[in-house]
Amino acid sequence: MSQSRTRPVSLVTGAGRGIGRGIAIELAKLGHAVVINYAGNAGAAEECLQMVQHAGGAGTTVQADIAKAEDRERLVQESLKAYGCIDMLVNNAGVAPSVRADLLEAGEESFDRLIGINLKGPYFLTQRVAKQMIEQVKSGDQSTLKPRIVNITSISAYTASVNRGDYCVAKAGLAMMTKLFAARLAEYNINVYEIQPGVIETDMTEGVKEKYDALIANGAWPIKRWGYPEDVGRAVTAIARDDFPFSTGEVFNVDGGFHLRTL
Ligand code: NAP
Repeated sequence: MSQSRTRPVSLVTGAGRGIGRGIAIELAKLGHAVVINYAGNAGAAEECLQMVQHAGGAGTTVQADIAKAEDRERLVQESLKAYGCIDMLVNNAGVAPSVRADLLEAGEESFDRLIGINLKGPYFLTQRVAKQMIEQVKSGDQSTLKPRIVNITSISAYTASVNRGDYCVAKAGLAMMTKLFAARLAEYNINVYEIQPGVIETDMTEGVKEKYDALIANGAWPIKRWGYPEDVGRAVTAIARDDFPFSTGEVFNVDGGFHLRTL
């Protein structure tokens, strides 16, 4: 309990590497205690913990597969055991399809795996954490941050890529999830936000680096560079600072202007 009263507590899923790590480090700069969730790469999570501590935050690592109900419950319990409350949930963990396959050929196995991690996991984790946040709000403890929820979706929530339909469908679902929880939780003053990153330099995009290098050079989006995990992390910290108190269900594009239609 003790640390929850001196530091806001953020639970970031998939925080060991990539965008999640960038978010954890930026939150640490605000002094947050960060629960660094990871699936299998304990080394990356430990490295992230050291970076969080170095940046001025505190943290703990928790292995949990967010696709599994029992792991989600353990993740929440371990977060509460460490810090006594959860002020912010960042649903970041996600995977690309194991194999990119054409829409007319792609199989159910890949679909089920991807939906489990990218949509069902965050959906039910949010349901569980929201109940915890409501309890915190009802307890009337004014010293904690107003609870906030952030979903990391993608430009794939609205961009059709016919060789990874499962990924697009999951991100579109996560976008609707933002609206649903925003509508349901407003009465508790729990705002819910969505961040739609564009192409960000992480392990996930490592295999398609040359393709995106060429797209960037050809002006696929106006700000001609890769996005970095820090770009997403900084958007999350604006939410963590409560810079948008009268906005909920809001979508933030962190995409170099990809969403613009230009002629
Ligand atoms: P990444 O570098 O591949 O990292 C993925 C993270 O998610 C890792 O920390 C991984 O844990 C964790 N993870 C994977 N499966 C999990 C599970 N079942 N339970 C818990 N954690 C799990 O990916 P990224 O590029 O940072 O992507 C992060 C999020 O941003 C994803 O939701 C992705 O869809 C989204 N996004 C990415 C881009 C992009 O261009 N990179 C663009 C838009 C949106 P381990 O380290 O233990 O494996």
